[in-house]
Amino acid sequence: MASDESKATGGESQDDATNLRLQQKYAEEAAKRFRSDGVAQFVDLKDASSDRVRALKDDPWADHSALNAKPAVKDGARYKFIILGAGYGGLIYAANLVKSGVVSGEGDVLFLDAAGGFGGTWYWNRYPGLHCDIESYVYMPLLEETGYIPKNKYADGPELLDHANRIAKHFDLDDKALFRTTVQSAHWNDESKVWHISITEDRGPEEESRRLELEAQYFFIASGVLTVPHAPKIPSLETFSGYMFHTSRWDYSVSGGKPDNWNLTGLQGKRVGIIGTGATAIQVVPQLAKLAKEVYVFQRTPSSVSWRGQRPTDPEEWKTKIAAKKGWQIARMKNMDRFLTDAAREGEENLVADSWSRVTAYSALVGSPRWGIIEPTPEKIDEHVARLYKLDQPYTEQVRARTATIVKDPDTAARLTAWYPSWCKRVTFSDEYLQVFNLPHVHLVDTEGKGVDSATKDGLVVAGKEYPLDILVLSTGFRTPGHGGGNPAERADIRVFGREGKSLHDKWDEQGASTLHGLYTNGFPNLFFSAVAQTGQAANFVFTVTVWAEHIAQVVADAERAAGPRAVVEVKKEAEEAWAVEIMKRAAWYTSILGCTPGYITSEGQALQTPKDAAEMVKKARSSGWSEGMESFIQLLEKYRAEGSLRAFEVVSATAS
Ligand SMILES: Cc1cc2nc3c(=O)[nH]c(=O)nc-3n(C[C@H](O)[C@H](O)[C@H](O)COP(=O)(O)OP(=O)(O)OC[C@H]3O[C@@H](n4cnc5c(N)ncnc54)[C@H](O)[C@@H]3O)c2cc1C
Repeated sequence: MASDESKATGGESQDDATNLRLQQKYAEEAAKRFRSDGVAQFVDLKDASSDRVRALKDDPWADHSALNAKPAVKDGARYKFIILGAGYGGLIYAANLVKSGVVSGEGDVLFLDAAGGFGGTWYWNRYPGLHCDIESYVYMPLLEETGYIPKNKYADGPELLDHANRIAKHFDLDDKALFRTTVQSAHWNDESKVWHISITEDRGPEEESRRLELEAQYFFIASGVLTVPHAPKIPSLETFSGYMFHTSRWDYSVSGGKPDNWNLTGLQGKRVGIIGTGATAIQVVPQLAKLAKEVYVFQRTPSSVSWRGQRPTDPEEWKTKIAAKKGWQIARMKNMDRFLTDAAREGEENLVADSWSRVTAYSALVGSPRWGIIEPTPEKIDEHVARLYKLDQPYTEQVRARTATIVKDPDTAARLTAWYPSWCKRVTFSDEYLQVFNLPHVHLVDTEGKGVDSATKDGLVVAGKEYPLDILVLSTGFRTPGHGGGNPAERADIRVFGREGKSLHDKWDEQGASTLHGLYTNGFPNLFFSAVAQTGQAANFVFTVTVWAEHIAQVVADAERAAGPRAVVEVKKEAEEAWAVEIMKRAAWYTSILGCTPGYITSEGQALQTPKDAAEMVKKARSSGWSEGMESFIQLLEKYRAEGSLRAFEVVSATAS
């Protein structure tokens, strides 16, 4: 009879063998999808060479006559805070500035946004089926302050958009925005100690656009993570003679229905093609299947689709459990995050208790306090990666088994099965998506990882076969958040010039990501930005921005207490460098993404390439996140604040100089 120890060893080696086989299968599947052109296989719609494809980025929602009727913003006007981006991010920053008492009156805040209204992601995206994938009780910002109770566990697009306007109204920000406005550049003037911000206001088809320069004491960049719609460079796409649109600019004049009524009568009798099977397509495809004559779903990489469990909010549960105590929302955000970062406390209840909150191996991407600093020896890294695969295995196996159970045709089921770790693509949840592939008029066109070959006047071509279509939906996503190595100016498509005219692009090109906590950078006083590098990260983006915004608001409030209302606050170079060292020490945590299939998380595989020299390796390590998870990042910020939030900054008064 085997001893307990040998049984354990035998069990472990069996586990290791399964783990290895799984990793081999993942590697084979990923290999089908790598392309040498990486992100260059896509084009941002705004940069497409064809007029037709470029026009797909235009705003279908702006009410030009109502917006033109508003009082004009004057050239040269000065504001205390200018915030680029009026999405949830920009709104959360502004709300926290209001709460901290640094916003006092008219002319204090101005949002600038290319959109025609508040909402950001939820302004642009209005496709049928749109919902947040994170539970609405933790995703919809500032629920305690606004007193709003979400209708369902997962809010739909119209409710998410309404909520953006609710926040703006609640904090008296609703008339403090210049919409349809693209920011081009921002220059710091070291004499007047203000930012000069160059913008173009589009006034619709009837009026000339206006070029203005505004001034701001503080400039915030909240330009989002998935904002610039793009499409694969499919040869002859512009020659397709049917209707075509991107999911982020849905054309209800073609599909029928409205953003708040998904009765898509325009699809009746029509052959509809949709390119893409990511998180958006999972929500759209079931809506297309309701009325279209035929639906063709063109797939490069299947999504991992687990159960959703949508349900109405129970008012009793809301009152007595969910929102029973003050501070419940941040506590619930943290609770979900602990489950996702493999850091739940002994006996802790999973309050959100949905599929998302069980994807513990997502910690590969958002960090975890599990390990702390990894000494980057080969054995340690191998052990770390193997542990994550093991952690992920039950979840991915359950998702694969679910696919096989739901989809009746075994070949279709096999093609819809996701073979990559959970941290490689946004995990998705739906109780409808896989099911529609059992309908006779819904066809999966699996491109074996290669993507669509070309377009013709009549449809799309895959592996030599033409699929005739009347309507083509591009569910092809957005420019990758990693674009520009975490340079916030690059993500917003603007140029930012700090002290002595130094450009943020040059700073990033020379030394890679350089910030304190991801949020501010030396040489660029009174500039704050949403981060993708050198910061805490979470699956729930609103949680992350809430943490950043609270901290930044305190930095500004403390700076004004120290130096008065014309404070100039700039992070010290040594604080920034010390932080970069902390980030680099922990960068080996992210080694697990090396086993990923290409997608937006790995910048289409580019993030997996071996650095060409030591300098590039350092830059790459500097652009990592804080690998110990969001809760540890919060504790770190709290400690900073307790010890005096300004110790890493130079603070002076503009009036004193
Ligand atoms: C379809 C979809 C579903 C999503 N679902 C979830 C979810 O369930 N959970 C989750 O955590 N995250 C989700 N996300 C991510 C989502 O983007 C964030 O949660 C969050 O809404 C981002 O807020 P933000 O304000 O930072 O950016 P955004 O909402 O993207 O807003 C940024 C704004 O900046 C403007 N802008 C950018 N550059 C310029 C410029 N140069 N000049 C003027 N304006 C500019 C844009 O027009 C935009 O309106 C989703 C994203 C998409 C696309």
